[in-house]
Amino acid sequence: MAAHYPLSYRIQPASPQAHLFEIRLGVQSPAPEGQIVSLPAWIPGSYMIRDFARNLVTLSASCGGRLLEAAKRDKQTWRCDPCDGPLELRYQVYAWDLSVRAAHLDTTHGYFNGTSVFLQVHGQEQVPCRVEILPPEGSEYEEWRVATTLAPLDAPASGFGSYRADGYQALIDHPVEMGRLSLIELEAAGVPHRMAISGRHRSDPERLALDLGRICSYQAELFGDPFPADQYLFLVRAVGEGYGGLEHRDSSSLICKREDLPRPGEGEPGPGYRRFLGLCSHEYFHLWNVKRILPARFQPYDLSREVHTRLLWAFEGITSYYDDLTLVRCGCVKPESYLEALAQTLTRVMRGSGRFKQSLAESSFDAWTKYYKQDENAPNAIVSYYAKGAMVALVLDLTIRLGSGGARSLDDVMRALWQRHGRTGTGVPEDGVERLAQEVSGLDLSDFFRRYVHGTEDPPLESLLREVGVGVRLRPSRGPQDFGGLRDSASKDAPVLPVLGAPYKTQGGYAELSLVPDASPAQRAGLAPGDLVVAVDGLRAGPDNLDALVARLPAGEPVAVHLFRRDELMCFSLRPALPPADTCELWLLEHSGEACLVRRRAWLHSGD
Ligand code: ZN
Repeated sequence: MAAHYPLSYRIQPASPQAHLFEIRLGVQSPAPEGQIVSLPAWIPGSYMIRDFARNLVTLSASCGGRLLEAAKRDKQTWRCDPCDGPLELRYQVYAWDLSVRAAHLDTTHGYFNGTSVFLQVHGQEQVPCRVEILPPEGSEYEEWRVATTLAPLDAPASGFGSYRADGYQALIDHPVEMGRLSLIELEAAGVPHRMAISGRHRSDPERLALDLGRICSYQAELFGDPFPADQYLFLVRAVGEGYGGLEHRDSSSLICKREDLPRPGEGEPGPGYRRFLGLCSHEYFHLWNVKRILPARFQPYDLSREVHTRLLWAFEGITSYYDDLTLVRCGCVKPESYLEALAQTLTRVMRGSGRFKQSLAESSFDAWTKYYKQDENAPNAIVSYYAKGAMVALVLDLTIRLGSGGARSLDDVMRALWQRHGRTGTGVPEDGVERLAQEVSGLDLSDFFRRYVHGTEDPPLESLLREVGVGVRLRPSRGPQDFGGLRDSASKDAPVLPVLGAPYKTQGGYAELSLVPDASPAQRAGLAPGDLVVAVDGLRAGPDNLDALVARLPAGEPVAVHLFRRDELMCFSLRPALPPADTCELWLLEHSGEACLVRRRAWLHSGD
């Protein structure tokens, strides 16, 4: 182990077959009273207690070859006996969580976040450390490569070698992927950018480089100089089913469906590729918004327990607004495609009555126990600070544009946040976003924030969007695959038929209710999530015919519904009703006047 670094970590995929990383940690100068070490309970960016220490399998401590006792003090902390001379810890971590939040290892690849594998050495959080990354043993792993933004010390082309991190917070903010990787290189803002894709996929690397270049260049220009990093890396895991991302200081980890990657010859992005580009755009926006502009409450991160802030709507909601908006502004998608994605975001908000019970500020504060621990009642009880946060960001942007006569926008607020907080490293106080928005716009926005961020009112979408030449309409859902979108000719003439009002999934041949929305016919009748519907109005009902059976019934008149709740057959009296208007349609207004068109071009950066 290198003697000149106060802390040195060595990590090796010791047994890919058993999903075990082995880590050795050398502490040159352990605390005289006995060294305390711990693993984080959560990872920044994902606001849930995950207790990473539960995956630590064995731990031993030694000094000069002599074993020491390492006694556990709580669920994630150990205290080693005092010793004269360097302390060495050895431990194994079980890595079988194929998400962006933890660690995963098998014979095809390895991935880890430092929060899952690197013990924090208490009292030495600020000292530089050396990290040695070793390949698994065996000739079958010769083609494995490493992708990470850790600073290399002595790492040859394969990437297996030694790296350096300046302190614990840096150590845990550079995830590592290893395996057979497809590498895509591009430049944006004069800085090298890479995407490393692992997992089976067939996609078009030139197209990815082109579109990522547009996205990254646009956002770098939006925030302005200086660019905050020396490099940037997208770590992408392509899978059959999956979606997610997590931001880091110079990189991001993404999981996507392999079919969402662009195929060779892909034209205008369809919903899948647009979703993937939106995910890249989202994580990249975090390079500024939450990695450098961050709540004062996160300075520093206390990773041993929950840390509450009312600002997640600004960090996730504003980022969610800009992720799709970036795609149209940088020319990756057409305005109509952007409106389709926006309408789907708005639909997600409009379908939950929880938005009248929980404010965005409360949703942020309670992310740990509510948003991240959703049960079947979540849409009735809570609101997403992502989706509603994006809606309120849109409304804030349009309010500033209209109120300032086009002189100011949310872009100016983001630039001010970057200059005032991001560049200086000054955390954003709990009222900081509101105060800066008012200062930059010159508008009194106190009523805006009181109603839409701290209160639960729906904002005036229709009147604001009309001012930028966009029409909006809420209509009833046309079925389980209807997520909202662009207005189409079918929507005007589609008949509106009675419904049960509760979504269901197929379970053992039954229609199992997955959610019973507030004020739905199903809720009024007393139906519950988990119920297995077997008959409606005396006729056999299942996932193949339930909607069609209810659609033929007269609205408002009682019929019998038979179902199993657990193993008990029960009968309820249901009054089918017409579905609520909770599905959003948007469209470009054709005759909205020159002033609206000018505002629309300024908003979307489009030349339509
Ligand atoms: Zn995010």
